[in-house]
Amino acid sequence: MPEPDEKPETKEAAPQEGEETVGITETPSVEEAPTKPEKTKEKDEGGAYRYYKIEDGKLTRLRPFCERCGPGYFMANHGDRHTCGNCGFTRYIQKKP
Ligand SMILES: [Zn+2]
Repeated sequence: MPEPDEKPETKEAAPQEGEETVGITETPSVEEAPTKPEKTKEKDEGGAYRYYKIEDGKLTRLRPFCERCGPGYFMANHGDRHTCGNCGFTRYIQKKP
């Protein structure tokens, strides 16, 4: 009768897996906590002030007015185009070389 080899192996493997599981569970929760992008978001949106810019004492509008809604309705800047948030009018910006 050959003696079963499974019994002694099972006893040795059991406590080793238990120790590794405890170590893995504690590590990620501590490292992921301080990684929050708080610096990228700044709260400096002061109402209508973000639509204007003063250069050399001269007031410059950063956003154009909507052609449909008239003065007072600024259009959002999307890089290559301006879009009105009130009526959805979109005007493409013609880049000068
Ligand atoms: Zn509009």
